[in-house]
Amino acid sequence: MIPQPLVESRQLGRLRIHAIQAGGQRLDGGAMFGVVPKPLWEKRMAADERNRIQLGMRCLLIEHEIGPILIDTGAGNKEDPKFYDIYGIENRGETGPTRLEDGIREAGFTPEQIVLVINSHLHFDHAGGNTIKDASGTRPAFPNARYVMQRGEYEYATHTNERTAASYFRHNFVPLVEAGLVDFIDGEREIVSGIRSFPTPGHTPYHQGLLLESGSEQAFYIADLAPTVAHLPLAWIMGYDVEPLVTLETKRRVLARAVSEEWLVVFEHDPHWAWAKIEHDGRAYKPKG
Ligand SMILES: [Zn+2]
Repeated sequence: MIPQPLVESRQLGRLRIHAIQAGGQRLDGGAMFGVVPKPLWEKRMAADERNRIQLGMRCLLIEHEIGPILIDTGAGNKEDPKFYDIYGIENRGETGPTRLEDGIREAGFTPEQIVLVINSHLHFDHAGGNTIKDASGTRPAFPNARYVMQRGEYEYATHTNERTAASYFRHNFVPLVEAGLVDFIDGEREIVSGIRSFPTPGHTPYHQGLLLESGSEQAFYIADLAPTVAHLPLAWIMGYDVEPLVTLETKRRVLARAVSEEWLVVFEHDPHWAWAKIEHDGRAYKPKG
């Protein structure tokens, strides 16, 4: 079951933003909730017969004055069928190679129009759509775009160990660097006006969120710091995180700010919630409304 709808759009100050559901993904529920016992997490997200929970892979398209900007690119089309089965990835497109391209078209644009692609980090379900496979081989999926990523994340992704290797595939990012299409950034900075990189370490050491600001409104693409609304309670941390106690402190700091500054938080993997403002009800963080 692929989470719907394909595209949800709204205004953020003067910016038009589109959440594109780039496909479905099913991951082991125990791995998704770390030390949280199954009787607790399965009340929030039901497991299938292989103990997997249904997730989305939401990318964000921003209509910016320099042109359309894309944050994260889903899982792409370059792996073999067995891989897509293991991870329960359903992202094949109806008009383009993947649902991401379908969603970009539904939002009124083409992949060729994208001027900037920003990766939260380089795991295969976030950067897999950076490149695309067609009859001529593997090529940049957004041929006229610059790609922005954290330099530390790229180093981490190209120097893997036994624990991290399964998440990083070189064909998702190395060809882009070799083609001179990547602009590396270090830490926090304004990438273009109103879009700021925001280091959120823990899931990976150089994982970043993206903070959008327009008019008096702010939105935060939180990526894998809190992949679904069920991950808002501080201790609900993925087993996939390489530094879970760093995640904990990052969440403590970021979610407090999200509440006090009324950020619209964009959830990448939630099957239902594209975005929400959040609140603390005295016990835990949760989505408002
Ligand atoms: Zn990840």
